[in-house]
Amino acid sequence: MTGMQKKTTQRESIRQVLCQATRPLSPQEILEKARRHAPSTGLATVYRAVKELQGESWIRAVELPGEPARYELASKPHHHHFYCRGCGKVFDLEGCPRNLARMVPKGFRMEEHEITIRGLCPNCSG
Ligand SMILES: [Zn+2]
Ligand SMILES: [Zn+2]
Repeated sequence: MTGMQKKTTQRESIRQVLCQATRPLSPQEILEKARRHAPSTGLATVYRAVKELQGESWIRAVELPGEPARYELASKPHHHHFYCRGCGKVFDLEGCPRNLARMVPKGFRMEEHEITIRGLCPNCSG
């Protein structure tokens, strides 16, 4: 395999990992999953691929204060997240509170919002 082919395979496996993910993944989590298909993948390759895929607006970052960003497909419909402080995993939540706009005082215009609920996932609360 040439170096170029190897890089393509690694990038493709990173792409696949993100496609198949059921929750936002950190670069470290992407690395662990990508290595199952392309064992020589390194963290630098993951960071590079993530940057490229984000530049192409194919994935977006889920930002959490004091945490490395997690990444998810940009095509996902609007949703929110649950952060487990036990295992550090981030999970998708469905739906959105309807009355958020009512919290915004008169004269202010809401443009976007993020909601992260923190707590323990079933694995960690048991
Ligand atoms: Zn957990
Ligand atoms: Zn919402």
